Amino acid sequence: MSCVFCKIIDGTIPSTAVYRDDECYAFTDIHPQAPVHVLIAPRQHIVSLAETDADDKELLGHLIWAATEIARTKGLSRGYRVVLNTGPDGGQTVDHLHVHLLGDRPLGWPPG
Ligand code: AMP
Ligand code: ZN
Repeated sequence: MSCVFCKIIDGTIPSTAVYRDDECYAFTDIHPQAPVHVLIAPRQHIVSLAETDADDKELLGHLIWAATEIARTKGLSRGYRVVLNTGPDGGQTVDHLHVHLLGDRPLGWPPG
């Protein structure tokens, strides 16, 4: 398996853990775009949001729930952003589904 996030999840590639449970693993982004920049990835290898189907509804909800839990533990009371870059036009660079949690600074809109 050549997937970098699968290797992070199985511990082959080191990472800084933020949260973990049976369904997902969350770790700090290696190139943070905000003071808080956490990636939440399912343990199961799914390429992107575009590859999901009705069977994944519960897992997708779980990933968003995990992001909100992490935001609470990080004290992001002024708000935060949850992003799922999907496919080439969506800016996805790692082909293992992941949720970005960004916070602890004002974030501009629209994105690039
Ligand atoms: P995306 O561009 O949405 O696919 O996001 C991929 C993210 O993974 C980027 O923000 C990268 O900085 C991050 N990333 C890539 N390799 C690693 C790594 N080894 N550890 C932590 N984050 C990584
Ligand atoms: Zn993977």
